[in-house]
Amino acid sequence: MRPWNFSAGPSALPLAVLEQAAAEMTDWHGSGMSVMEMSHRGAEFMQIRDEAEQDLRDLLKVPDEFAVLFMQGGAQAQNAIVPMNLLGLAEAGQADYVVSGSWSKKSFQEAQRYGDVALAANSDQATRINGQEQAALTWFPEPSTWTIRPTASYVHVCANETIGGVEFNDWKALGVPLVVDASSNIFSRPIDFNTVDMVYAGAQKNAGPAGLTLVIIRKTLLGAASDQCPSAFNYEIVAKHDSMFNTPPTYAIYMAGLMFKWLKTQGGVEGIEKANIAKAQLFYDYLDNSTFYRNTVEKSVRSRMNIPFLLANPDLDKQFLTEAGQAGLLQLKGHKSVGGMRASIYNALPLEAVQALIAFMQDFEVRHG
Ligand SMILES: *Cc1c(COP(=O)(O)O)cnc(C)c1O
Repeated sequence: MRPWNFSAGPSALPLAVLEQAAAEMTDWHGSGMSVMEMSHRGAEFMQIRDEAEQDLRDLLKVPDEFAVLFMQGGAQAQNAIVPMNLLGLAEAGQADYVVSGSWSKKSFQEAQRYGDVALAANSDQATRINGQEQAALTWFPEPSTWTIRPTASYVHVCANETIGGVEFNDWKALGVPLVVDASSNIFSRPIDFNTVDMVYAGAQKNAGPAGLTLVIIRKTLLGAASDQCPSAFNYEIVAKHDSMFNTPPTYAIYMAGLMFKWLKTQGGVEGIEKANIAKAQLFYDYLDNSTFYRNTVEKSVRSRMNIPFLLANPDLDKQFLTEAGQAGLLQLKGHKSVGGMRASIYNALPLEAVQALIAFMQDFEVRHG
């Protein structure tokens, strides 16, 4: 059996997807070509691209008022591409950012290079919630507490902080466009496009290999790019060319397309959401009933995708990782800014993987507790 891979990203892909890609590697559907060898403008790849977009639209119920863009540069390139494209939406050239973890902090810092960018809210400080002390970046600032300038061109948030394990999706209409970094929870749950105006995500967490960036944007937000914005990163130009302004990451789009078809076999986003809830619940319940392991994120905003956990005795961290690897449980090391461990349980990981992890953790505790 393949080991279970808990990597935060690039992360595990479903075995069925990898096997299909392997079977089609040298000859896609009798074309005599690998997908990597096809013209991006040929009939074969156009079919792959069009199906990928349609399946994405079906899965997330993307309204017709939104464009779907296949871009490159990853989510961090979007930290600059978003302000270059959207600050011009309003006269003042302003944007407000919610900082709720490492990724949104990076977004906020990068955006400052492009205009008048302010904090709407910041969880990088300790607070008290329901009488509980919450450390910095282990909670999410309630939307009712945000400071939004009515003259702002947009507000930027991160729906799932992959490093801190903080997730929030209960967006409210703000009166200005809402831009969401959904890199690590896209396709794990539905998105409400009534309150969200743009979503972007690097593909390598839940939608395929690295190299592809997904952008879903309300068409009324197109056309406000600055003169300095590279054409290949100008949403309006990319949309006008059906993401073919320059050569798109063809193989990554093909792999994302296979992921979308696989997701449809899992009951779509609604089906996988149920599985994700069950997986996360099982693991958090185990952690909360343990004195040997713990998760410190505020309960109402715990991520379903990325679950950091600490051992009561950090001297055992190295031993834990070594033995986990021997038990076929890979890439559990926590991010250095948080320490300890992190189990990323994206769509591709079944409940069985979480059960195997818990069984190992129980056994490790018996032997080292
Ligand atoms: C991984 C990640 C990023 C960075 O993605 P790159 O594609 O490496 O630039 C940004 N935001 C979130 C939420 C992420 O999980």
